[in-house]
Amino acid sequence: MGDDLMDNIVSLCKRRGFIFANSDIYGGLSNTWDYGPFGVEFKNNVKRAWWKANVHCRDDIYGMDAAILMHPNVWDASGHIKQFHDYKSDCKTCHKLFKIADLNPVRKKSPKGKGLSNGVKDKNICPDCGGKLTEARPFNLMFKTYQGVVEDKASLLYLRPETAQGMFVNFLNVLDSCHPKLPFGLAQIGKAFRNEVTPGNFTFRTREFEQMEIEYFVHPDHADKKLEEWIEDRFNWYINLGIRKENLRKRLHGQDELAHYAAACTDIEYKFPFGWQELEGIANRTDFDLKQHGESSGKDFRYFDTESKERFYPYIIEPSGGVDRTTLAFLVDAYREEEVKKRKRVFLSLHKDLAPIKVAVLPLLTNRAEIVELARNICQDLKKKYFCVYDDTAAIGKLYRRQDEVGTPYCVTVDVESLEDRKVTVRDRDTMNQDRIGIDKLKDYLKQRLAG
Ligand SMILES: [Zn+2]
Repeated sequence: MGDDLMDNIVSLCKRRGFIFANSDIYGGLSNTWDYGPFGVEFKNNVKRAWWKANVHCRDDIYGMDAAILMHPNVWDASGHIKQFHDYKSDCKTCHKLFKIADLNPVRKKSPKGKGLSNGVKDKNICPDCGGKLTEARPFNLMFKTYQGVVEDKASLLYLRPETAQGMFVNFLNVLDSCHPKLPFGLAQIGKAFRNEVTPGNFTFRTREFEQMEIEYFVHPDHADKKLEEWIEDRFNWYINLGIRKENLRKRLHGQDELAHYAAACTDIEYKFPFGWQELEGIANRTDFDLKQHGESSGKDFRYFDTESKERFYPYIIEPSGGVDRTTLAFLVDAYREEEVKKRKRVFLSLHKDLAPIKVAVLPLLTNRAEIVELARNICQDLKKKYFCVYDDTAAIGKLYRRQDEVGTPYCVTVDVESLEDRKVTVRDRDTMNQDRIGIDKLKDYLKQRLAG
């Protein structure tokens, strides 16, 4: 079922213009994907919902948009140059590359095929061909590039592996320009790059990806409490946007899993068809980052509390989520198949804030110019408020199926009677119920049902 569901989703994404394989005509660039016309609307809606909840609806968070390229000292101070590594090994016979973490204990079938037993693969043997593997070698996950015309060490730059550092290095700028009091946070959405050995599962893990990150600065004494609050807050965000509760869970990191800067971390995981996987990590990064940048730059990164007259390094609570994997989770969770009149109906039961198209306006007949004109006018008028489309390229049944598959909450149909009674039919995506509504009442009708 899991594989079938993923296949169905990948195929729907291509068929309906959500996600295409990158550079497809040249055979594709592995694990790189492009968002098509409805994919970009959908992903933008996910980002908008995140920004609204975390920046616009709060008084204590400021938005930011830092550059992808940064001074190389940033990555030295952050520990990424020294510590942001994976270990790899390759086969001397077939030359396939393996990530060491993937060669660790695996579950495999017992020889007699009776159930499962815990088997440990030999780390020195190629699981594909049985050849010998080379010694494990560390490799840095950061993408390198050069600034300027000379490609030498002095012009070496990195594509950021996380958006977080752009916020840390601007901490003093925000203090000086906005004068916030603790606790306060910075929020940013942007691209990040990691040269992973084993990406995969469609858009779940890709080398180029987008992050939604918050860096929330708190007094060290309040860090544990704020961490718990953020875990709850972020968990509820997914539920409020329609993710089914049974498909979402929190998972506390073991001490051995923690990143070099973190004191504690809890992941929010989604039950994908390929297993439980992380959507977002909420970490207590302690004062590691501000201290590192303070010491490395020679600037004073301590916060001065005017009431207690105390000067200290704030702790940072960081809810860090992936845009692409969150978008994929919303898509998987919304995918529905049902039988209607002996035919399979596929639809995306997306939250209305996330649906790429809010309303489709469809003429029942295209051989009557007045119907087409009325439908086009209604669509044009609604466009001022919602993302709407007009479509008359097929019979009505097919048009409905198309809109169902992209998750359009409402279809407005204009027919011959509309010319007489000035009414249209509004069809609900999930229930397929139809209401006959006066054209002059249509905006109010939709306003009650579509927020924003
Ligand atoms: Zn091999």
